[in-house]
Amino acid sequence: MAKFNPGTYEGSGRGYGGKLFASVTVSEDRIEQVKITQHKEYRGIGWGLNTTPMELYPGLIVEYQSLNIPTVVGADLTAAAILEAVAAALKAAGASKETLAEIKAAPGPKAPDYQDEVRTLDVVVCGAGAGGLAAAIEAKLAGAEVVIVEKQGVTGGSTARSGGKLLGAGTKWQKKQGLMDSPEMVYDYLMEVGNRNGDFMDKSKNRYLTDHLNQTLEWLNSIEATVLGDKEEVLAQPWKPETAPVEKDGVLKTHYDVLNVEPIHVSLQPWRVHNSPGGGGQTNGQGGEISTPLTLYYENDLHGEIIYNTAMESLLTDENGTVTGVVCTRANGAKLTLYARKGVILATGGYGRNKEMVARYPVANYFSNTPKGNVGDGLVAAEKIGALNYEHPAVQVVYTSLTCGIGINDESGLIVNDRGERVVNEWSYQYTVSDAIARSGSNCGWYITSGKEPYSGVQFGYKSAVAKKSKDPCADSIEGLAQKMGCDPAVLRATYDRYCEMVAKGHDDDFGKPAEFLHPIEGPKFAALRLHPCVTVTFGGLETDISARVMKPDGSVIPHLYAAGEVAGTGMYGTQYPTCGTSIGGALFFGRIAGRAVTNQALL
Ligand SMILES: Cc1cc2nc3c(=O)[nH]c(=O)nc-3n(C[C@H](O)[C@H](O)[C@H](O)COP(=O)(O)OP(=O)(O)OC[C@H]3O[C@@H](n4cnc5c(N)ncnc54)[C@H](O)[C@@H]3O)c2cc1C
Repeated sequence: MAKFNPGTYEGSGRGYGGKLFASVTVSEDRIEQVKITQHKEYRGIGWGLNTTPMELYPGLIVEYQSLNIPTVVGADLTAAAILEAVAAALKAAGASKETLAEIKAAPGPKAPDYQDEVRTLDVVVCGAGAGGLAAAIEAKLAGAEVVIVEKQGVTGGSTARSGGKLLGAGTKWQKKQGLMDSPEMVYDYLMEVGNRNGDFMDKSKNRYLTDHLNQTLEWLNSIEATVLGDKEEVLAQPWKPETAPVEKDGVLKTHYDVLNVEPIHVSLQPWRVHNSPGGGGQTNGQGGEISTPLTLYYENDLHGEIIYNTAMESLLTDENGTVTGVVCTRANGAKLTLYARKGVILATGGYGRNKEMVARYPVANYFSNTPKGNVGDGLVAAEKIGALNYEHPAVQVVYTSLTCGIGINDESGLIVNDRGERVVNEWSYQYTVSDAIARSGSNCGWYITSGKEPYSGVQFGYKSAVAKKSKDPCADSIEGLAQKMGCDPAVLRATYDRYCEMVAKGHDDDFGKPAEFLHPIEGPKFAALRLHPCVTVTFGGLETDISARVMKPDGSVIPHLYAAGEVAGTGMYGTQYPTCGTSIGGALFFGRIAGRAVTNQALL
């Protein structure tokens, strides 16, 4: 009996970015073709790489006549959405329950049966985010035999999940927009913010970074341009219309050529946050636009090797303490030992997903939007061989609503801590607000505003949060609101009355919020939106010198061990995140430095 009614059918599934549509062509008893016709998945996670589901799944489903395709670790949601969409299309093609069950259970590609293996090469890079990819590219360009081991099935780590914003100072893009800036100005800014609550900043590393921010952006731009050189392939991908490379005067302008520069909070001047494509609008953006060209350049142009689904577990040393290699574990548990003649570069990212490590900081009931594998493996491995692992007194926490972007934009209404106290000028950069809430010993923030339009001080997003009403945020009185929030009604009342008093006189005596942002908050209804702590970037970690060499507590270096990116954040942050774009800029720059240092090239 025929399994399907021959023809082409459509089905949909829910991916990371929303609905994904697949068109499936079937004959009477075979799946003949699978095409993804529409989706909102992210470049570098769902699509765009040699290992992303969108590139792999359609072919595998047809080859194996099966929906039993192993997931792509790190892109699980896109992978599941494709399978769901194809199953729906097959159902539309008349597949019975039994047929669908058969296809779902049919043998798919077998997981590789790795055996224990030992290899020797020049350089081993652990982790393929911004730091690891930049390091591997530099080492590969120097002619070294390089391998990257990556825990996930796709590259990108936090970088691909990020807003993709890059810090620049005095760049041509700023000049185009008439913005005056310089490396000195950004250095002064970073030092001032970083040292606000203690002496945390490494002067030489920050000076070195800020002097080279410009060059880092140009370097990235040139790689993107090289990758885009293969117009056919790259342009065939579903670019968002606004991010498509633009043809001007017969010349294809690369992404970064069409980028804009913006403030991350309008109170921060000058504007120096450079958007990757699609990144306009302060909190939007897509770090996959950074990790994808780096990955494609390394894998396709430089023929660099990445060993996926393989985690670095420990570092090997000789009798003098020189690092000689790493021991890794493959997905099937087999051991892969990689000896490195020149050195090992740790670029395993932060530890946002390591509950025990984060528990050292004053943040509870948090969530983290970092990848699941970012648990601090590099820190643990390096510490075991004597590296200095600095326990910084803070991690980057942003207090944001789970239902909308409130708390991370330019809102300026009343924000209070979990005791109902006001602790900050709300019209400040998101991390200034978050730092103040965290330092007041509070586990969450509350955004207090009118329970009806116009929502005072709210830029955008609030309406959708109220509309969703998963938990009605409104009450008829301030005291009723306090009850919902679980704080002392008398405290919230006092805070509210004091705020109203200052709104009425047009002057914020307590925190200096500019008068034009002192919006009245009036009843009859009031609303309180909970701002949940979210750990995005972790601070501290390995201490490195300006050549990205990992240091010991006595100030000496561990021979042949380098680190870059979030794993080596010591000296780069204070208690708050200084500005968007700092992390990726630092990971790229010190990644490049590590790759050059390990291959004995001149530094930048
Ligand atoms: C939601 C969000 C938004 C952000 N927005 C911005 C922004 O706009 N601008 C900015 O500058 N910064 C931003 N950041 C921070 C920034 O993305 C990161 O700090 C930066 O990308 C870190 O780069 P990395 O290379 O150090 O680590 P990652 O990009 O996290 O890469 C580390 C890689 O190592 C792999 N790995 C981990 N353990 C092992 C192991 N044992 N063996 C092998 N591989 C391993 C991981 O799978 C991962 O692929 C944001 C972060 C988040 C979460």
